[in-house]
This record gives sequence, C-alpha cells and structure tokens, in this order.
Amino acid sequence: MGVLEELLEKHWGYRSFRPLQKEAIQAALAERDSMVILPTGGGKSLCYQLPAVAQDGIVLVISPLIALMDDQIAGAREAGLRAETLHSNLSDKDRTQAYKLLDAGEVDLLYVSPERLCSGHLLESIAPRLALITIDEAHCVSHWGHDFRPEYRQLRPLFDSLPHVPRMALTATATEQVREDIAHQLGLRNPEQLLGHPDRPNLIYRSFPRDNITKQVLEVVNRHPGEGGIIYCLTRKSTESLAGKLQSAGLNCAAYHAGMAAGDRSRIQAEFVNENIHIVIATVAFGMGIDRSNVRFVIHANTPKSIEHYQQESGRAGRDGLAAECVLFHNYSDIATHRSLAERDFPLSPDRKAVFEAHLKDISRFASAPICRHQFLTEYFSFSYPATPEGNQALEARSQKCGACDVCLDETKELDAKEAVITAQKLLSAVFRCENRFGVGHVVDVLLGKDNEKIRRNRHDQLSVYGLMKGQNVVALRTWFDQLMMQGALRMNTETGYPIVQITPIGLNICYGKSDVRLGLPITEKSKSSKQERRSGSNAKDKGSWEGVDKALFEKLRALRKKIASKKGMPPYIIFSDEALRGMARTKPQSKSGFLAVKGVGKRKLEQYGDEFMMVISQA
Ligand code: ADP
Ligand code: ZN
Repeated sequence: MGVLEELLEKHWGYRSFRPLQKEAIQAALAERDSMVILPTGGGKSLCYQLPAVAQDGIVLVISPLIALMDDQIAGAREAGLRAETLHSNLSDKDRTQAYKLLDAGEVDLLYVSPERLCSGHLLESIAPRLALITIDEAHCVSHWGHDFRPEYRQLRPLFDSLPHVPRMALTATATEQVREDIAHQLGLRNPEQLLGHPDRPNLIYRSFPRDNITKQVLEVVNRHPGEGGIIYCLTRKSTESLAGKLQSAGLNCAAYHAGMAAGDRSRIQAEFVNENIHIVIATVAFGMGIDRSNVRFVIHANTPKSIEHYQQESGRAGRDGLAAECVLFHNYSDIATHRSLAERDFPLSPDRKAVFEAHLKDISRFASAPICRHQFLTEYFSFSYPATPEGNQALEARSQKCGACDVCLDETKELDAKEAVITAQKLLSAVFRCENRFGVGHVVDVLLGKDNEKIRRNRHDQLSVYGLMKGQNVVALRTWFDQLMMQGALRMNTETGYPIVQITPIGLNICYGKSDVRLGLPITEKSKSSKQERRSGSNAKDKGSWEGVDKALFEKLRALRKKIASKKGMPPYIIFSDEALRGMARTKPQSKSGFLAVKGVGKRKLEQYGDEFMMVISQA
C-alpha cells in the first residue's frame, strides 16, 4: 500500500481513492497549482485534507460558507486532523484559542472566510508555514458562475505575494467559460486540470408535469419514511403553505426561507442536520450551508432557473454515494414567474438577459423533453454519457437505458418521433386556427370537440381542428401544451390581462415539418398499478445498497449514532456515514478486525466508537 493510501485508511477508513482525488493530492504535494472540478459528493474535501496530514505545513481553506465551517472542522477533527477556523461569527474565546494553537504550530488545517483573510495580517503571519492555499467554491470568483461573490476578487493580490505556495481551486460545476475565468481571476499558474465526470450515478432523476402538487409531493415523501429530504419551492408563501399541508399529513417538517428571522433559520438548519427534522420545505436560500450527507430525496415543486441551479440543488441528495431520488415537478407558469421575478428585482442588461433566457430554455427542455435525464445533464456539461467504455457496455446490455430516470424506467412514455410531430402539429394548428387569441383551456376544449357557449359564440365548432382529438384525455393534452411551451414552440402572452397562447417561429417550423419535437406522457398510476416495482419508486441501485442489510439493526445503530452525536454536539453523519452503518448491519462484525473492515471505519473511529457499536451488534 502506498503512503497516501495508508493515510486514507488510517484517518478516514477508506480503502481506495475516488476518481481524481489522488491526482489532486499529488499535485498539492508536488507544489503545483490545480483546478479540481468534482460533482457534489465526489469527495472534494479529501483533496485538501489529506495533504494536511501528509506534510508539516498548514493547509489554508478559503470558503464562503461560514455556516459550514464548524461542521467541516468537526468532521476533520473526527478524522484526527488538527483543524481550526477563523471567521466573523466566532466567539472571542474560540478565536483566542485558534490563534494560540496557530502560534504554537499546532494546526494542520485552517478554514477562513475570504473577508477574514482580506482584513488584517493573518496571511503574513502564517506565510512561513503555509503548504497549500485552497479556494473552495471557486466558481464564486466568476461573473459567469451562478453565485458571484465580490470578496473573491480581492484574493489574487494576496496570493501573488506568496508565489512559492501552491493553489488548489475546487468547485462542483463549472462550464468551460467559468473554468477559464477561475484560472485567470485566482492567478493559477499552469494549473493541473482535474475535471471529474459530472454524472451522479447514485441519483435517480424524475421529472413530471405538475398537477396536484401536494398529492405528488406526498407520493414521493411516502417512499422515504423517516428519511431526510429537501423540497424546493419558488416563493416564501408556497413553502409555508406546503409545509402546513405536510404537517397536517403528520410529517415531521418545517418551512425555511429568507424572510424568516436569522435565529429561526439557523435553528431549523441545525435540527435538520441533527436529524430532528426530517424534511425542510425551502426556497433556494436553504442548502448552501448544508453538508448532511444522507439526504435521500430532493424535490423541486417548481422548475429552477438554470441547469446549474438544478445540478447544485438536486446534488444535495445522496452525497454519501447511496441511492437517492431527485424529482422535479414542472409547469410552464414557473418560467413566467422567473421572468417576472427577475424583472422586478433588477432590470437585466441585454447581455445578462440573453444569458438568463438561454438558461431558462435549457432547464425547460431538461424538465419537459422525454430524454434520459442522466444523459442530458452530462452532455450539458460537455461530457459524454456514460462515463466509461465499461459503462457503455453495461448500458447496451440494458438496451441503452440508464435505469435511473423516469424516461429509462418507463415511467414517462416517449411518443415515437412521427407521432410526436403529428400530435404537436395538431395542437399548434389549433392555436393558429384560434387566431392566437385564446387561452390553453379553450384550445383544449376545441380539440376535444366540447360544446360550450364560448365555442359557439366564436364559431369555433366550425373550425377544421374542432374535435380533432376527440377521445384523448384532458391531462395528456394539457401536458403536451405545457411541453410545447417549455420547448419554445408556443408562448404565453399576458399583455391583454389574461394568458393567451400563441405560436412562435419554432412552432411554425414544426408545423412545416422543418423541425422535430419530443413529447412524453407520464404513465398514470392506474396503468402502472400492475407494476409494483415502479410504484414503489425503487430500482436496482436502491436495492443494491440495502442488499443483505438487517434493517432493524440499521435503525438501532442509527439511534446509537444519534445519541452519541447529540452528546458530542455534532451532526450524526460526521460520526459515521449511512454507508458505514449499513455495512455494519450487513456484516455484523464482533471483532476489531471485522469492524475495521467496514467501509468508512478507520483506526480512529474504531478506537472511539468500536465498543459501543459492537455492543449493539452483539445484542441483535
Ligand atoms: P463534496 O465536497 O465533493 O461534495 P465531500 O468531500 O463532502 O464531497 O465527500 C462526500 C462524501 O464522500 C463524504 O461522506 C466523504 O467522507 C466521502 N468520501 C470522500 N472520499 C472518499 C473515498 N475515497 N472513499 C469513500 N468515501 C469517500
Ligand atoms: Zn435515463
């Protein structure tokens, strides 16, 4: 075993590196600059934490997320690192203690906020002992990224005053443009580019049209009794109303949004991390400071405003590598809401507006087109799917299905290409025949051949499209209208005071047979009731991670973990990951060597917790 592998095993209890971790660590030890792009859950922290124990100097970590720092140092200390933090929210006592340890040379890993680093002489005072400067969430330095932070722009001159110290920039998602900007803004010198594949194979993606959101959310939540989940909504009001409904359904949940008092917000965050609250219904304000690794589902009750946002928010599920589910409920009205929110908050410059619209277009297509979700996300970030040739063979064996999205699991049926075009043409020509002057509801009635006052008054029963889709179900028609709007073939015009649907140039092209279109249809509960497998929402991935696990024992171990965590005042996932607990409940080790063989158990954890956990195992 190599030196690095030994450290990995001793401190973290892992036997092998995840992709690119070792390369990142080696670059740091060789004093080279690097840029590390790994998806959420890819194991970025290890890339800079391991160098902190592999040599003598200090590893400095600059992170914008003060809320995360305490949990991060708790985690690093559990692995036996001498970790400290300096930020504005620290008590005087803790700050004095941190400085004392720094002066005494007893710190391996130091987390700071960019503000803290830019004020005072911290950097100068630790300069002689600095081994590595790490910039976490490095996309914050770029205007093109989705979370620009001006403080990040002040870092480069500080770094440039320490030319001998290598720099490591890390982030989860970055397009090529953002990567170039990061390298430039942080002054990386010929950095080693370590670009991880963006796919998250353990996540199951689903995207469905929204109809009854409470019912739809409950269906997902009920697949995960007692497990942690996040539900994102677009507005503060809707978080509260949905939380109220879920509470009446007896669920342990809370709303969270930026309009709440800071104290309430941090309390809810802590309760969620400590597993006292299972579900948080939040605006996007929630999650930036959440490192809980065993989030088993993320639901979007509305379409987010870009694929980057979706990747980041859904990425909070399953960081521990175990199966988790991400469900998006979309409706065209979300896109209109994003536009009006953007215009209300700040008038966009033409440049920014173009970027904003392009983002909306991409996420709309992701949400509504029946295309394998894993493939779509991966290709969006300019990678090919699947990641490896072996993966390719595996896919071929399963006839090109990822096995982990609604499209490939046959929960959304894609119309074949010809049928999709013909269906779209029928819908589009109905809009056209109604002279682009009516709402979706009316056009649907016309297509279905309904008889009502409005149709008679406008003589729409005389149109060639009247009754053209008689017998089709209303839900299917509405879904297709929504998909055509999300894919830009139709638009909603509200200038007259109420929403009317109009055909666009893209729509005209489809009518002329010049461009194709993809339409899907969710398979209804009724038609899939024979297929128990689907209804339970489980798939091979989920089953695999529970294979051979004694679930009753897992729950007992989980209770013990929670007891220890609350005694020590730290989040349960830092004591042991869910994967480690499942491992114990699978192999039921009763000896030190058996316990050490569980993935996620290192020597330190064995010493600290081995006896207590083996005691529970022996009673099972
Ligand atoms: P990121 O910051 O990239 O989202 P983290 O650093 O939080 O990811 O790591 C995610 C999870 O993966 C953590 O629970 C971590 O302990 C675990 N992990 C990291 N490296 C490995 C590894 N080599 N083998 C197994 N698990 C790992
Ligand atoms: Zn798929």
